[in-house]
Amino acid sequence: MKTSSKRSCSPQSPDPSSGADDERAVAGGVPAAVGLVDAHTHVFPPEMILHREAYLERDARFGSLYRSPKAAMVSADDLVGRMDENGVDLCVMVGFPFADLGLCRLVNDHIVEAVGRFPGRLAGLACVAIEAPGAAAELDRCLDAGLRGCGELAPDPHEMHPGKQRGRGGLASIACSLRERGLPLLVHASEPFGHQYPGKGRFTPEACFALAQAHPGLTVIFAHLGGGLFLYEAMPEVRRTLADVFYDTAAVPYLYDPGVYEACLATAGSQKLIFGSDYPLLAPGRYREGLSRLDPDARAAMQSGNARRVFKI
Ligand SMILES: [Zn+2]
Repeated sequence: MKTSSKRSCSPQSPDPSSGADDERAVAGGVPAAVGLVDAHTHVFPPEMILHREAYLERDARFGSLYRSPKAAMVSADDLVGRMDENGVDLCVMVGFPFADLGLCRLVNDHIVEAVGRFPGRLAGLACVAIEAPGAAAELDRCLDAGLRGCGELAPDPHEMHPGKQRGRGGLASIACSLRERGLPLLVHASEPFGHQYPGKGRFTPEACFALAQAHPGLTVIFAHLGGGLFLYEAMPEVRRTLADVFYDTAAVPYLYDPGVYEACLATAGSQKLIFGSDYPLLAPGRYREGLSRLDPDARAAMQSGNARRVFKI
């Protein structure tokens, strides 16, 4: 679908094309070990990996996460090369939320190109600098080229100010583009307390809830179990507001005990959890201990069906 950045977009119009019931039936029949989708993997173009030092000073967030040579960076080709041994059928690649839209564009180009070379094995999301002029146009360019959503974005909580959400530009325009196409926004979420680690941000459950509230009908995946937002799905009125919200498992073994998946299933339900490893930070095998405790139907939904439905892949 071709769209224009001048279009009108009402936050009150939910996506009519989720097709959730059909896909749920399919997901229920998928054995857990078959068709694993890893919905949260990070890739960079080879040039950026080779010359990472040159980019450390150009972006404070990138510098804080990738200054250590131990912080692994992989290209799309590196990722594909490890998928079979990791038991993964399909990876959803994300780039990095650079503050410079030009750097986002470099990564987006790499992802678009790789998806074209590995259809059926790779899908990708577009990353944009939320506040940059041209962010919505860059997102539209990538979605027109076949990418399946936007992320992983790391918004500042001030983005959730009600005035900003009503206006044009910024996150409001990004949300508008995605809602029109029925594609998801992946947001980096963090726990409001607990241990500190590189990348721990301030977009905590309150900001996540405000984002969902500001954009009804927009499919949002909060990474890292939404910083714990899933717990509040046990409150009926909160659950209604979070109707289009999903949670991915990226980095969970670093953050929680293995029993957290059962807690998440008890409150949010198996249809809202999406497996993502945060590769190359963690390989999929690191999630085995927690996931093996779940029943096969819940695992099949988490490890394949939900992602295929949400990303339309
Ligand atoms: Zn993240």
